[in-house]
Amino acid sequence: MIFQHIKCIALAAAWILACRPTLATSAENGDIKSAQITVFVTVDWEGAWLENDNIAAMQSFRKKFPHIPMLQLLNPAYLLKQEVNKDVAIAQIKSTFLPEDTQGLHVHAWKSLVQYCQVPYQSSYSYSGENEACETGDCGYTVSLEYAYSEADLTKLLACSRDLLVQQGFAKPVHFRAGGWQMGPRLANALQTNGFVWDSSRIDANLLTTRWHAESGIIKMTSALHQGSTPLEQPFELKTADAQHAALIEFPNNAALADYTNTKQIVELFKQLILNKKEIMVLGFHQETADMYLPHLEKAIPLMNEIAQEANVQLNWASH
Ligand SMILES: [Zn+2]
Repeated sequence: MIFQHIKCIALAAAWILACRPTLATSAENGDIKSAQITVFVTVDWEGAWLENDNIAAMQSFRKKFPHIPMLQLLNPAYLLKQEVNKDVAIAQIKSTFLPEDTQGLHVHAWKSLVQYCQVPYQSSYSYSGENEACETGDCGYTVSLEYAYSEADLTKLLACSRDLLVQQGFAKPVHFRAGGWQMGPRLANALQTNGFVWDSSRIDANLLTTRWHAESGIIKMTSALHQGSTPLEQPFELKTADAQHAALIEFPNNAALADYTNTKQIVELFKQLILNKKEIMVLGFHQETADMYLPHLEKAIPLMNEIAQEANVQLNWASH
């Protein structure tokens, strides 16, 4: 599986063909291959705060489930805060990692980050209706990347955010999720220009109504950006490769994040994927609220194992 995934990075364009787990009950040379499902546990690092309780919750999860890798989608904004000791922050972040993890990028357009990247800051549109025009301190967390920024500015912001992570000793990211799932054509182009090959910004807005009103900005905006997305949606090529760029493959966040789903809902989403013979589940949680919501996932894991076993489906965990 590991080698298969290394191959995935190199051949992102051909992912669906090269890396799709075999969904088969067919016999090859006498071997019966069972059906498979691969689950990605993604972590959205919002760039808001680093608190011991959340870091400890992640560390404890890693000890309980050392075989489960994580896709750590990092926002470099922590490293720009005046009150934060950069070295301590980096050590805290890395203390939650395991060697099998993958490091990706998660951008919320914090004013500190946007200005550091020499992009003109935009205070609207906010997906939550928040006033994001601050004179002091930081703001911009809820500003929609897709609706507020031009493709040129997004291209610059992504490159600069990526470089900031690399300069601080993190891996060069090629995996991405937009803050508030605010990805559309402009951001998709900016991602491909910057060499990103894996995006998970697409989501079925109905998965978010557990916490947001149907008339709220985030529901309206994600519905408009991600028409037709469902909890059964599977990876597809969002941008095809061209002479200069690799393809960008979309891995929809088809099981949302654990702030929006309790254990029962995570298990039900998993069950539906298995019943419908789907092979990829992308779920996750936020670092900033790991202490509160990571237990939803912890409790779901043994139940997911049971369901997979009963259905004779092989359950794989992957981070890229
Ligand atoms: Zn986020």
